[in-house]
Amino acid sequence: MTAATSIRNLFVTTALPYANGKFHIGHMMEYIQADIWVRFQRMRGHNVHWVCADDTHGAPIMIAAEKAGKSPQDFVAEIAAGRKRYLDGFHLSVDHWHTTDSPENVVLAQDIYKKLKAAGFVSTKTIEQFYDPVKGMFLPDRYIKGECPKCGTKDQYGDSCENCGAVYAPTDLKNPYSTLSGATPEMRSSEHFFFKLSDPKCVDFLREWTTSKDRHGVPRLQSEIIAKSKEWLGEDGKMGDWDISRDAPYFGIPIPDAPGKFFYVWLDAPVGYLAALKSYFDVGKAKANGESRSFDEFMAAADTEQIHFIGKDITYFHVLFWPAMLKFAGYKTPDSVNVHGFIQMGGEKMSKSRGTGVDPLKYLELGMNPEWMRYYIAAKLNANVEDFDFTAEDFMARVNSDLIGKFVNIASRTAGFLHKHFDGKLGDTSALAAAFPGAIATSHTEEIARLYESREFGKALRRLMEMADAVNGYYDTSKPWELAKLAAAGDSAARSTLHSVCSNVMESFRLLSIMLAPVLPNLSTRAFEFLSLPIQRWVDVTSALREGHSIHAYQHLMSRVEEKQLDALLGVVAEAADAKKSEKSTKPEAAQNGASKGNTSAKAAVSGAQASATVTASDNAVIGIDDFAKVDLRIAKIVNAEHVEGSDKLLRLTLDVGEVDADGNQKLRNVFSGIKSAYSPESLIGQLTVVVANLAPRKMKFGVSEGMVLAASGKGEHNSDGLFLLNPHAGAQPGMKVS
Ligand SMILES: [Zn+2]
Repeated sequence: MTAATSIRNLFVTTALPYANGKFHIGHMMEYIQADIWVRFQRMRGHNVHWVCADDTHGAPIMIAAEKAGKSPQDFVAEIAAGRKRYLDGFHLSVDHWHTTDSPENVVLAQDIYKKLKAAGFVSTKTIEQFYDPVKGMFLPDRYIKGECPKCGTKDQYGDSCENCGAVYAPTDLKNPYSTLSGATPEMRSSEHFFFKLSDPKCVDFLREWTTSKDRHGVPRLQSEIIAKSKEWLGEDGKMGDWDISRDAPYFGIPIPDAPGKFFYVWLDAPVGYLAALKSYFDVGKAKANGESRSFDEFMAAADTEQIHFIGKDITYFHVLFWPAMLKFAGYKTPDSVNVHGFIQMGGEKMSKSRGTGVDPLKYLELGMNPEWMRYYIAAKLNANVEDFDFTAEDFMARVNSDLIGKFVNIASRTAGFLHKHFDGKLGDTSALAAAFPGAIATSHTEEIARLYESREFGKALRRLMEMADAVNGYYDTSKPWELAKLAAAGDSAARSTLHSVCSNVMESFRLLSIMLAPVLPNLSTRAFEFLSLPIQRWVDVTSALREGHSIHAYQHLMSRVEEKQLDALLGVVAEAADAKKSEKSTKPEAAQNGASKGNTSAKAAVSGAQASATVTASDNAVIGIDDFAKVDLRIAKIVNAEHVEGSDKLLRLTLDVGEVDADGNQKLRNVFSGIKSAYSPESLIGQLTVVVANLAPRKMKFGVSEGMVLAASGKGEHNSDGLFLLNPHAGAQPGMKVS
């Protein structure tokens, strides 16, 4: 860091989302990461200009627009119109949102190209490529399918076979066809333009740039990324040239003096960062944000820092092509590129295409607090390129125990004493740092600032919660409720101690609110209102609340996250509804997912169990034997049973249903069952029961459930409470059919 007094001028970007779909939680994670860093810098008094844009060009959007019967421009405009809800919804303070399909981007991309060409960094080469004679266009690899050259499996993509795993070129496919028209593609040649990344000047520059430090003495790339770039740059420094052109028809920016040729989308996409910034200046937003210089002046200024936040999947473009393009076109090169990993669910990357995970819009529509998500994501993030798992239990624990139980609790438990005994006025807090073990001192606030600066958000929040623990510990050991009784009885020493304790606790709350503000802007703002303070900046950690300062009465600051909200978010509600539906029919009750909690209607169970007395006529619609035969009931042996962390209803059962896999190995099933209230896991191991074996696997919060075990239960007035797992008579074997 330079001296704390020097004001930084920061140009910050987040990766441009491809404009062919809605945001998924991965986008939100990146924006939240950048937003926390940006808000921290602003709190420190630095000038930050954060821009982003839709990445609009390329064949996939052209084709998607055509399918939707729209022009590409209309198609991306509709996508763009939906962005604001997410950005506002998660309190993302991006200053300007633009598009790569903009006049600024045309001018800048063409200018960069012309300068690269003039400097001798562009070459041309004729290449052979598949061409769709019906669509009249060259085919990107993803639109070519055919038979695997190794095993002959049909409908394989042009890069690898899903059946045998063979890797090959699209030209190796047997009987190739265009997925756009079905036509047999022809090989045609075309002249392509290349950026000469193999030029030794380029390689030398990249070797230096990727391993050097920024102006603050911090490596501009993370160590994992430096290692990766070394690998890419190779020991002999032999980089391939980069194909930067595509033939018409193409939705993109025309290459100057080359009719029918367009820039490959990956050339103009990062230029979109500059185009978005230029637009931000040109429409007057930079000025409104305190920047009086022009775009050109700002970019030419030596103190302008250019900082990118990206996901690990686009590292190659951002640490090789992008800085090299800028460098040899005579533009400013980035100061740093911050790469993050992915947010996953059960080890699987969350993305639109897989349809798994947390839908950010649904999250907002369910009325869930965006700051819960901001806090959770921040708690999981560090400065490394690491993936992390989203789990509902972890989410609930962090929000409820950290935010509510530790942080908000400090204010809610203390405010009453101050109002009841001291008219809402604080005592002297100037000696806070020495008031109790672990009290917040300057060294703490400086440590937190360093952690924010280096994007170690998880560590910062852990330290802040340790501080909150210390504050709560001080409160508990001081026993203000006892001091209050003594004070009320006229003990003036107790009264003085009570005032001092509550004031120190409240001042600690103020300091924590400041330090949490980058993550929790709304909650902190409300905390400052409660404390009767203006919005606090980072520098305010060095001052203390004045003696006699009045605070408002405590008002509710944040609610706890409830399990049912997470159920709704993750689609577990749909399963509960299914379970209810099955209760309405004569199908056996499935003690599957705990959805029956609080349900007072009794459920029918398979023969042998106590019949429910409250089953109504409508519940007992008659079915034929064929209907019953559809249910494949099998004897299952419970080979293992264990608790499910975070669930008070479920047990995880491992079942032997007599199945073997293709190699003859025993195949076991994983089934979640809502029987925790009735059975300890140990008591079930080795028991036999009955499972619905042909039930479609269900994705639950905790994993996939492959079937359900049958249990009888009675929770109505006419039944005794309880839950009873079915158990066959001795002699039944795993896999036997129950009929
Ligand atoms: Zn194959």
